[in-house]
Amino acid sequence: MQAMHHRRTHCQLCNSSALTPILSLEPTPPANAFVTEAQRNIEQPCFPLDVFQCEHCHHVQLLDVLDPAVLFENYVYVSGTSPAFVKHFEEYAAIVCSRFNPSVGSLIVDIGSNDGTLLNFFKSRNYRVLGIDPAQVIAANATAAGIETLPAFFTPKLASEIVSTRGQAAIVSANNVFAHAEDLYSIAVGIADLLKPDGVFTFEVSYLVDVFQDVLFDTIYHEHMAYHAVGPLQRFFKRADLELFSVARVSSHGGSLRGYVQKAGGPHTFDGTVDKLINIERQLGLDQPATLRKFGNRIDLLRDQFKTVLQDLKKSGKSVAGYGAPAKATTLLHHFGIKPGTLDYIIDDSPLKQGLYSPGQHIPVVSSEILLRNTPDILLILAWNFAEIIMTNNAAFVKKGGKFLVPMPAVRLYP
Ligand SMILES: [Zn+2]
Repeated sequence: MQAMHHRRTHCQLCNSSALTPILSLEPTPPANAFVTEAQRNIEQPCFPLDVFQCEHCHHVQLLDVLDPAVLFENYVYVSGTSPAFVKHFEEYAAIVCSRFNPSVGSLIVDIGSNDGTLLNFFKSRNYRVLGIDPAQVIAANATAAGIETLPAFFTPKLASEIVSTRGQAAIVSANNVFAHAEDLYSIAVGIADLLKPDGVFTFEVSYLVDVFQDVLFDTIYHEHMAYHAVGPLQRFFKRADLELFSVARVSSHGGSLRGYVQKAGGPHTFDGTVDKLINIERQLGLDQPATLRKFGNRIDLLRDQFKTVLQDLKKSGKSVAGYGAPAKATTLLHHFGIKPGTLDYIIDDSPLKQGLYSPGQHIPVVSSEILLRNTPDILLILAWNFAEIIMTNNAAFVKKGGKFLVPMPAVRLYP
C-alpha cells in the first residue's frame, strides 16, 4: 500500500518548503473508498489528515497525497444525483453567460466535469462543450448521454491537443477539482494555453473563511488538498501568467469561493472584490498559524458535545442510523470516534453507494426504503448541509416518534 501515498515537502501554490503544522485530524481511508461485501472484513489503510500552512504565501493545505488513480478512477460521486447541485450549476451557467457573453458556438471546457451537469446548461445555449474527467465510468456515461467527456487528467499536453483539434476555449471551468489536484501549477499553465485572449477561467473551491468561521472541518479529506483563500491564489495565478480579476462567495459545499481568471493583461476589468476579500482574510488573521490553531480547539469542543449526546442516547437504549454518506462523513465519523456497530446502517439516496459499506467503519449503505421495515430511534444526519431537505422528506419518520441528530454546525436534536 506504500505506493498509494506520499507526503509533499513543498507548498502546492508557491513551492516554498517552509510549512507549519496547524491541525491534526484522525487518520482516515480515502473519503470515498466504499467497499463491497467481499471486502468488508479487510481492514482499510488509514492515512494522516494533517493540515499545514505555508509560511511564505499562507496557503492552507494537506501534504499527504493519495495516488489520484486510487482516489478518482472509481469515483462514485455523480453531481447530477443531487437536485441542489443541478440547480446550483444551472444558475452558475446562467451567470457566466450573462456576465461574459461568449459568442454562440464557442468552446466551453469543464475540467472535472463529472456527469456533465454543468456543461449540459451550456450545451442547451448552443455552445460547443467538452468535459474532462478521469473517472472512467462516469466519463463514458456522460459521453453516451451527449456530453463528450475525455477520460483523462487535465495536463498542459492535453490542453494543447484540445487547442489543435478544437481551438481555444471562451470559458474553462473547474469546480472543486482545484482543491483535488496536486500539481496546480501545471493545470494553470494548461488553462493559460487553452483560453482565448479574452477567455475566462472560472472555478469554485471551498473557501477557507467559511471553513474556519463555521468550523467545517469535515470538508477536510484527502481529495481536498487545499483550503483556498484569495490572497495566496492571487499570487499563484500571477506566477502562471494569469490574473484573478473577480471573486464571489457562494453557498455551495457550506461556503465556497468562486473566482474569475483571465490571461495577464486581458480585457476584463478588476471590480475590487479581490482586494475586499483579501482584507477580510487579513482581518480574521487567516495568514497567522496561531489563528488557525484555535480552529482545532473549536473542533475538539464540538466533538465532546457530540460524543456526550450520542453516548446518552446509546445508554438509554436508542438505536441510531446515519443519513447521507458524502465524502465528508468519513472525516466526521473518524474524527468523532464513531466505532463500528454504533450506527446500524447509513441511508444514501445514490444507487451507486447502496449495497456498499462505508470507508473505514464498513457500515452498510442502504436506500431509504429500510425506514419502512427497520426504523431506528435516531437518524444522524451526516449530509448535514442538506438537513432541512432530509427532515422535510422524512416527516413520516418523525410522526412515528423518530428524532434527527444534526452534528454540525452545532449539535442539535430534532424535534
Ligand atoms: Zn506557499
